[in-house]
Amino acid sequence: MAVKQFKQLGCLDVNPQGDCAFQVRAETEEEVMRLGAEHAKLCHKAETLPPDIVERARVAIKTVTVNV
Ligand SMILES: [Zn+2]
Repeated sequence: MAVKQFKQLGCLDVNPQGDCAFQVRAETEEEVMRLGAEHAKLCHKAETLPPDIVERARVAIKTVTVNV
């Protein structure tokens, strides 16, 4: 069994008033941000993310360790 580190971001971390339990997990922060932006576009109709939201997402990213 190996332990791997992932970056994780939840929709609620960025939008606490929202009722969205979406969580994204990827190997790099860039990938998390990309997937998060994609989710915002698909599920929240946010074509572009305002800089303050992007910044909030970036600081909310957590590093988690997962047994793989
Ligand atoms: Zn969401």
